[in-house]
Amino acid sequence: MSSMQSPTSIPQSPTRLYDLDLPTLQSLLAGWGEPAYRVRQLWEWLYVHLATDFDQMTNLPKPLREQLAAETIIGVPQMVDTVRSADGETRKDLLRLEDGETVEAVLMRYRRRCTACISTQVGCPIGCVFCATGQMGFRRSLSAGEIVAQALHFARILRAEGERLTNVVLMGMGEPLLNYDASLSAIRRLIDPRGFNLGQRRITLSTVGVVPGIERLAGEGLQITLAISLHAATDRLRDQLVPLNRRYGLDALFEACHHYVKRTGRRVSFEWALIEGVNDSPMQAKALAARLAGLLAHVNLIPLNPTPGYAGRPSPHAALTAFTAELERHRVPYTVRLRRGVDIQAGCGQLRQHSAGQEEAT
Ligand code: SAH
Ligand code: SF4
Repeated sequence: MSSMQSPTSIPQSPTRLYDLDLPTLQSLLAGWGEPAYRVRQLWEWLYVHLATDFDQMTNLPKPLREQLAAETIIGVPQMVDTVRSADGETRKDLLRLEDGETVEAVLMRYRRRCTACISTQVGCPIGCVFCATGQMGFRRSLSAGEIVAQALHFARILRAEGERLTNVVLMGMGEPLLNYDASLSAIRRLIDPRGFNLGQRRITLSTVGVVPGIERLAGEGLQITLAISLHAATDRLRDQLVPLNRRYGLDALFEACHHYVKRTGRRVSFEWALIEGVNDSPMQAKALAARLAGLLAHVNLIPLNPTPGYAGRPSPHAALTAFTAELERHRVPYTVRLRRGVDIQAGCGQLRQHSAGQEEAT
């Protein structure tokens, strides 16, 4: 060490506890000379009691709490904006990360389900033309802790209201399979029976179709749901809507989906945002049915959420009916999703865009 270094030199960024898996936390505390059972206690404070402050951890000795406070942070994001739908069933929160970046997370209540839709990246490098996140470009990937923290944020809010978070979908900003390790580590953290203990089948990972990531995911031994954002059933059309299709075309994508079903026994979901005059023709529906033949699959039809950077409009009802009639003819199982949270721009990336617009206006 140089003698020139002043005692006030920039401190190392503190360890974020949400970023540590159990073995790493174990070795951190073992290094401090703490007995093994302290790690379990701390783990429960983090993932069972959802503590936001070391002072809440009353069964930990004060010196340990002080050392934790001095050398680590928990990693709870700060909520900087929130909007609620008129019916009160959907809320969207803008969460500020330590470096000042912001991500969106959405909570949807439907019947007895409370689902958190969480982000895996700030922005997204894929650039799907209809997507507000894609229009924003890519800023950075989130850490595992930053992903987990979004689900815990809503779990805490729900608990205060006597409810429970029942489902998590990785369907917010970003492409989870381009941030593979952090996304998988976050999923494993959420399903840990000693911690947050969410059922594997209550987690959905949505991907635009990163084929090597799907292949890898198939071998993880997980029972989560895989959703593919398809939106088009011919390469010609999908190349225009989803630029990644030029790299991994439909043949490769469906081969990976078949492999996923074979390995996991899980049904794959296909997301399809209906865009007027673009992908809502009976011909596309027929091509979709042909692609899905022999695959354990389900289609989710979503009306397009209009975004400032894309001229497309949601399909009118007549087009939807013609599209679903074609699916029915081919016995393709589908659900028409409600336009939940449209009044709060609950579409991916829209709150961040909205907030940035407001900042610029002031
Ligand atoms: N990158 C991943 C996960 C995040 S996007 C993926 O693309 O799957 C979450 C979902 O919202 C995707 O299905 C995406 O296609 C869809 N989506 C994005 N913009 C939309 C819009 N304007 N209207 C309707 N759905 C949209
Ligand atoms: Fe990225 Fe998904 Fe949006 Fe496409 S739809 S730009 S992959 S976040």
